[in-house]
Amino acid sequence: MAAQTEESDTAREQIKAEQDVDQVRQRASRDQQRLDSGAVTSPKDLENLQREIASLAKRQGDLEDVVLEIMERRESAQERAAELTERVASVESKIDDATARRDAAFETLDSEAATATKEREVLAGVIPADLIKLYDKLRAQQGGVGAAKLYQRTCQGCRQELAITDINEIRAAAPDTVVRCENCRRILVRTSESGL
Ligand SMILES: [Zn+2]
Repeated sequence: MAAQTEESDTAREQIKAEQDVDQVRQRASRDQQRLDSGAVTSPKDLENLQREIASLAKRQGDLEDVVLEIMERRESAQERAAELTERVASVESKIDDATARRDAAFETLDSEAATATKEREVLAGVIPADLIKLYDKLRAQQGGVGAAKLYQRTCQGCRQELAITDINEIRAAAPDTVVRCENCRRILVRTSESGL
């Protein structure tokens, strides 16, 4: 916007400077007509008129330089405005792209959540009610993760390696015993990679 304002400001400046040039040119042209008409006869008046014409020519030259300088500034303002407009368009297109990707990700997540919810319903039907209750309680307490994999003697919920005594207890526990992390209290899921 600043670049566009500068562009329109210099455009106005240019019009004003061109009007100044025009005024001087018209005045010089009138003087020249008077000189050519032969109406002025007094040598003193003739000299004055010629001096004024010369001075107006110099003034016109100076004013034309001003116009050129303004045109240069206007041109660079136009370039800058065009460049920035292009960058705005590029950023907007990136925003559109990111928005589309976000929306697509939302859709995927919604669909995954729906699938997970269905899977949970099926599993909940075969898991003892008290275990589900414990799991839900832990999940609420532990930021959404009520059970964690025991991987190489480390609880994947809190990332703490279990003490050897705890590992020994877990190793001795029956497969259907609910074992928990001593550190975060999450339910631990034993696999072949648990390091038991
Ligand atoms: Zn833990």
